[in-house]
Amino acid sequence: MKIIIATQNPHKVEEIKEIAKLYNISGIEFLPIDKSLNFNPVEDGETFEENSIIKAKEANRLTKEFTLADDSGLCVEALNGAPGIHSARYADTAQKRIDKLLDAIKGQTNRNAKFVCAMTLINPKGEIVLKATGECNGNIALSPSGTHGFGYDPVFLVEGTCKTMADMTDNEKNKISHRSNALKQVFEYLKNNSYLPM
Ligand code: IMP
Repeated sequence: MKIIIATQNPHKVEEIKEIAKLYNISGIEFLPIDKSLNFNPVEDGETFEENSIIKAKEANRLTKEFTLADDSGLCVEALNGAPGIHSARYADTAQKRIDKLLDAIKGQTNRNAKFVCAMTLINPKGEIVLKATGECNGNIALSPSGTHGFGYDPVFLVEGTCKTMADMTDNEKNKISHRSNALKQVFEYLKNNSYLPM
């Protein structure tokens, strides 16, 4: 089967393919949405789920195929869930976003945080067939560590480990990440509904 990923970011499609490999999923062709279709949804939802629905619906409107969208970000307890859905726009550059975050929670004893990923799967008829949320718990490190990954990875200490996400290899991260936890539910749905072999 073919699933269009509601993104023009090739990195996201590659990450989804890598996670599928980890779960031994074969038989799905993951494709980015064709550039010529001018995929440009207005992400004005108030939650990760709403934004993932907006993206999946727009991709389905343009392609009439199975479409999968994700929306993700970092939620920090001491900041009442910020930066949350604004994670990508919290500051101008990745370094500035990290600096702003560390500054915002300076002196806080509660450094609990979680990465959240909401995924929406729409079938070719345009019906939402699955909404899945994956989370990864951790806390915010006092200073950045590690060279892998992207975004807030260098300051996100993964619960139960002494590593930040940026200290982990792609494979290690893909086993525990919020995206991986959401995608696992998508694969379960596809198996349970006979789109994939059990
Ligand atoms: P998107 O909606 O999936 O494109 O992600 C929104 C933003 O959340 C990204 O630009 C990052 O700042 C942050 N983010 C989401 N997932 C991760 C992750 O796995 N590691 C680090 N930052 C992330």
